[in-house]
Amino acid sequence: MLVLARHRGPSYVGAMDSVTTSPTGAGPVLAPPARSGAPLAPTRVQVTGPLHGLRMPADCAACGTPARGTLRVEKRFRRTSDDAPSRYLFHALDVPFCDDCRGAHARELAPVDPAVLRRMRWTFVLRTTPYWIPLAVILWMIPKVLAPFARGLTRETLALRTPSGEWNWWLLMAAGVVGFFGFCLFGFLTLVNRARHDLVAPYAGAGDDTYVRRERVLLGPNAVFLGPPTSVLTAADFTDDESELFEPERRTYRFRDPVFAAQFAALNANRLWNAKAPRARWARKARKLLTIAFVVVLAVAWVVDWWMS
Ligand SMILES: [Zn+2]
Repeated sequence: MLVLARHRGPSYVGAMDSVTTSPTGAGPVLAPPARSGAPLAPTRVQVTGPLHGLRMPADCAACGTPARGTLRVEKRFRRTSDDAPSRYLFHALDVPFCDDCRGAHARELAPVDPAVLRRMRWTFVLRTTPYWIPLAVILWMIPKVLAPFARGLTRETLALRTPSGEWNWWLLMAAGVVGFFGFCLFGFLTLVNRARHDLVAPYAGAGDDTYVRRERVLLGPNAVFLGPPTSVLTAADFTDDESELFEPERRTYRFRDPVFAAQFAALNANRLWNAKAPRARWARKARKLLTIAFVVVLAVAWVVDWWMS
């Protein structure tokens, strides 16, 4: 059972490392740090695995009172690579907040310039024009192509084999036509949907590791606005995947409130990253071995090359 009292019980002072398994073996028990007069507990928590599936405390991340709902903390990260253009990734975390803090967040959000939204709407229309035309053509052609098949529809024509035992080519052809148009339709709709999610408002900064706000442009909240978070959202932050070779995906989560951070660590104790654990040590060893193997292969190649010449 999880013990996540904020002010109840004896005032334990604990860091993230103090997360242990309860004597009953029923699960992790947290020694919550006291809110005042105690050394500051770390507010950074390293957790492996993806963002979804993380368990969140029941209190507001900003003020510590019981949470009544969540706010989405979304960020954009840039991943660079030597041999490919850098790509942007969006990750979001639903963080619990109380009504007061959610209200403060809503009041702090500056209204988006309608001119910018209008421009983005046009960008979307222009960008998806090449898809709308084939989509219209496909939708126009489907009834025309299928009409002859629909007219010849009988109980016999719907059987996979004819009474004489041969394949019913009529049905197979109809299925092929339906499949082809369905595939095209799906493809173009996917492209439109992707364009809908790629709408990013102009941003002066680099936007490599930036909070994201989404606004409705067309068909739901899809336009991305990069920029500093509201003072409420600064209560929670997270990094992109920080794993090295042979390590599982992991991120550092930072919470302004050490109590919230400790609760978060306890709730996700089974996913906490420990650099001293065998798993991490194994990864370091494997990386070292790989480096050595690489050097050996290079040396052998060099010797062979020198021998042959
Ligand atoms: Zn609050």
